[in-house]
Amino acid sequence: MKKSLNLRKQIQLKGIPAAPGIAIGKVHIFGTEEIKPVERNISEKEVSSEIERFREALKRTRKEILAIEKKISVEMGIEHGRIFSAHLLVLEDSVLVQEVVSRLKKKKKNVEFIFAQVIDRYMSVLSEAKDEYLRDRISDITDVGKRILRNLTGREEKKLEDLDEKSIVIAYDLSPSDTAMMHKGRVLGFATDIGGRTSHTAIMAKSLEIPAVVGLESITDVVRNGDEIILDGIHGVVIINPNKRFLEQYQKERKRYEHLEHELVELKLLPSDTLDGKKIIVAGNIELPEDVASVISHGAEGIGLYRTEYFYMNRRDLPSEEEQFNAYKSVVMRIKPNCVIVRTLDLGGDKFLSQLDVPKEMNPFLGWRAIRFCLARPDIFKSHLRAILRASAFGNLKLMYPMISGITEFRQANEVLEQVKKELRKEKIPFNEEIPVGAMIEVPSAAITSDTLAKEADFFSIGTNDLIQYSLAVDRVNEKIAYLYEPAHPAVLNLIKMVIDNGHKNNIPVGLCGEMAGDVSLTMILLGLGLDEFSTSPIAVPEIKKVIRSVNYSVAKRIAKEALTFISGKEVQEFAKEKLRELVPDIAGELID
Ligand code: PEP
Ligand code: MG
Repeated sequence: MKKSLNLRKQIQLKGIPAAPGIAIGKVHIFGTEEIKPVERNISEKEVSSEIERFREALKRTRKEILAIEKKISVEMGIEHGRIFSAHLLVLEDSVLVQEVVSRLKKKKKNVEFIFAQVIDRYMSVLSEAKDEYLRDRISDITDVGKRILRNLTGREEKKLEDLDEKSIVIAYDLSPSDTAMMHKGRVLGFATDIGGRTSHTAIMAKSLEIPAVVGLESITDVVRNGDEIILDGIHGVVIINPNKRFLEQYQKERKRYEHLEHELVELKLLPSDTLDGKKIIVAGNIELPEDVASVISHGAEGIGLYRTEYFYMNRRDLPSEEEQFNAYKSVVMRIKPNCVIVRTLDLGGDKFLSQLDVPKEMNPFLGWRAIRFCLARPDIFKSHLRAILRASAFGNLKLMYPMISGITEFRQANEVLEQVKKELRKEKIPFNEEIPVGAMIEVPSAAITSDTLAKEADFFSIGTNDLIQYSLAVDRVNEKIAYLYEPAHPAVLNLIKMVIDNGHKNNIPVGLCGEMAGDVSLTMILLGLGLDEFSTSPIAVPEIKKVIRSVNYSVAKRIAKEALTFISGKEVQEFAKEKLRELVPDIAGELID
């Protein structure tokens, strides 16, 4: 039941920022209507025609999905289009189809009623699944389930494409197909009750550059069509029926943000040098080959983290060596002469594949993950490495291993790499013999023994997303303890300093590719600690570049030194913001709280 609230009252909600930008406009509530099929008894004679109706609805649904897949592949690239292959898999799930048919025969009820029951059962099982990947599949099943029900009940499809007025879309959840159908011109932004930072919907919002806030929990309870709303995708805030003061303030902020975006994009062709000439690399992180366009359009100098595991997700089979090779090669060729750092498979933790029979674990982030998984499955690891090595012949490619905990693991991974190199040589398949091989530093033991690792690795890339969770013992996906997840914690800063110092002592470059690299308030500190490369989501590249270009390295070094004297993360953060306000005031005004 909807709560009855005074809808004219201003309401402010905080959610998860999914795509940056500020939108102000009227609410369009989307897709909350649920199709609840009525229950009807059928006779024995009707059974076959009901089954036929079901098969027809499946066929029609398949046709619709194929059409969307094609449209998205053309407009956004095949990698995004492939999300809909996952929908086709749901449709082709013979267990599901069989269950509907046999229940229908047994219960003698109309097919839409039976189908809705079966789908509900699937959903309740999945919603209890512990890992995020399986829970993410709920949106695929809901999406397909709704389509089939609509086709069974003969209802018209509501599409975001048909929006005739510029609006801010509010929904309980948005499926990837809804999101993909959004027109940037008409959808000013969107906000949802559920969803996380890593959902396909959030990834797509960033690619489409539509401001978005997800995980608001109750926004659909408190808005009505036509309400005025402010959506701040930078801070994850939504204000419903804002008062005049808020409205004026955000109108100004939107203007400033747009101006800043424009100005920042102009930095695209400029190098990331400090005022006193120290050269820094600001690169982009990608999950899918299609993200390369955004890396280029935001002026990133290469790719500092290519999360290859996304290639293995959303599909029933494992990708072949050839398929991987073609994808990695295309990325490398589009980015050259700049460098692409390909991170080998980081499965496990919160990223699981349905096609692999991975047992459930009590502590998946501390379990059979990343390099540990690869070393235990040389069949998968070797074909992955072959594809990466082969792509190295076509541009500037570096390779790195995730979750390295010490020198033994690094050496073991290199042994497999050597075996694969040997095979390729024998088969006369070209690859870069000098391919640089790095270690991600994201486990405290690797940070502490980084002096040893630096003697054998060609470079380091600090993975702060994990380094923070492991060193502060704060699960990175647990909302309840999110307040403890502090990138500026003195322990984290000291570990980062240790890794950079040990890298430099051994003459290897050190980059950072966790979310912290895109936190503009910490750029000066990281710069001053001596970081050589920042790699972040492409959207954040221009602002990081701007900060680097606005300071002297000598000043940043002093700032970093002072930052290390504080005893709490909060103090460091306050100090960092103060310095940013002082040295790069236009950025500070827009991008930090
Ligand atoms: C990290 O841990 O900082 C990192 C970049 O890897 P991921 O977020 O993919 O675990
Ligand atoms: Mg990591």
